[in-house]
Amino acid sequence: MSEDTKTAGPAMDAYWMPFTANRQFKKSPRLLTRADGMYFVDDKGRQVLDGIAGLWCVNAGHNRPRIVSAIQQQAAELDFAPPFQMGHPKAFELAERLAALTPAGLNKVFFTNSGSESVDTALKMAIAYHRVRGEGARTRLIGRERGYHGVNFGGISVGGMVANRKMFGTMLGGVDHIRHTHDPVRNSYSVGQPAHGAEFADDLERLVALHDASTIAAVIVEPVAGSTGVLIPPQGYLQRLREICDKHGILLIFDEVITGFGRTGHPFAAQTFGVTPDLMTVAKGLTNGCVPMGAVFAKQQIHDTFMNGPEHLIEFFHGYTYSAHPLACAAALGTLDTYAEEGLLTRAGEMQAYFAECLHSLKGEPHVIDVRNIGLVGGVELSPLPGEPAKRAFSIFLDCWEQGLLIRTTGDTIALSPPLIIERSHIDRIIDTLRAALRRAA
Ligand code: PMP
Repeated sequence: MSEDTKTAGPAMDAYWMPFTANRQFKKSPRLLTRADGMYFVDDKGRQVLDGIAGLWCVNAGHNRPRIVSAIQQQAAELDFAPPFQMGHPKAFELAERLAALTPAGLNKVFFTNSGSESVDTALKMAIAYHRVRGEGARTRLIGRERGYHGVNFGGISVGGMVANRKMFGTMLGGVDHIRHTHDPVRNSYSVGQPAHGAEFADDLERLVALHDASTIAAVIVEPVAGSTGVLIPPQGYLQRLREICDKHGILLIFDEVITGFGRTGHPFAAQTFGVTPDLMTVAKGLTNGCVPMGAVFAKQQIHDTFMNGPEHLIEFFHGYTYSAHPLACAAALGTLDTYAEEGLLTRAGEMQAYFAECLHSLKGEPHVIDVRNIGLVGGVELSPLPGEPAKRAFSIFLDCWEQGLLIRTTGDTIALSPPLIIERSHIDRIIDTLRAALRRAA
């Protein structure tokens, strides 16, 4: 063990942690050992209020009995089934249940194991779809600045986070980006959808003019950009994107890895905003974070094009060993039961007025320069420390952790996305803790 990673707890040399400053973390590790409902418990036995549903995924709260027993039963019954040329009943049952929840028309389900895999699957599906229907020149993919679509090569190529791109070479060819919609001058402290910025969607027309529609396969956006600072779509923006896509035969992909499963007040943000994409990616809340699983929802017509296409033996040459894994399917079915029994997929809509009121009460606190929200997702943007971006927000994260609250920071924005079982008293505690931390940082 190296000098700087000695601790009283487990040895910490071997585990190379993802998206973490390893050396810093290992000097003062934060270890979670149990979780129940709205709370984690750390290795010192402290309760920590979960302000971010784990990582935007534990939407029904932790340790839910139906999900736990579904996983246990499944592990004892059928631990694995090959997903290629074979199936198992729960995969079909889950797909039917999901198809009934999605916006009209998105009724075909392709399973993956993560958000990143869902994104790359959807991008490949879009390109292959055009090829199968005889427009093989449509290969160009359009993403958005400040988009986050996971970490695989497709996802970072269409994504718009420089830190995730700059170390990894030239990315996929034939990718372009529209501008992000963040407009802090016109839309500061917007409650819900900002009023200004629908015209940002017209960037897509400019890219059509530049490249020609006949070369463009798809455009991918998060309805609400989460990992780049909680950016809520301006009123009319997604509608405008939809119109431009329709006009030019471009597929519209919504990445709902964060927004899926109730985060914005409906099962999917597509329903909250009243815009239906052609393909939709999900993960996280699909299994309440318990077992890795993702999915792509496709419109019937996209699916049928593959089924009727010329390459008819294996219609879509793509899949994963763990696609529709039995344990993941069982976890997802237990999750959907829990969501349904407790009305969780619409609960964010019921709680959002109180959440918004409390969140926006942080306006005027030290360092706060903007507050944004929709459903049960919120962003509090802080002025950066001069020359040290993200450091101020991270110091607030550390302070909150000491006070028994888990939040997340993305750059200089504090992100909140609590489990949907949240009560008003939890919201009060989150906001009080945050307010005190901001004042201490002043
Ligand atoms: N897309 C979006 C919108 C996400 O927020 C995330 C993860 N936060 C991903 C894709 C990637 O998901 P995963 O980490 O499961 O690969």
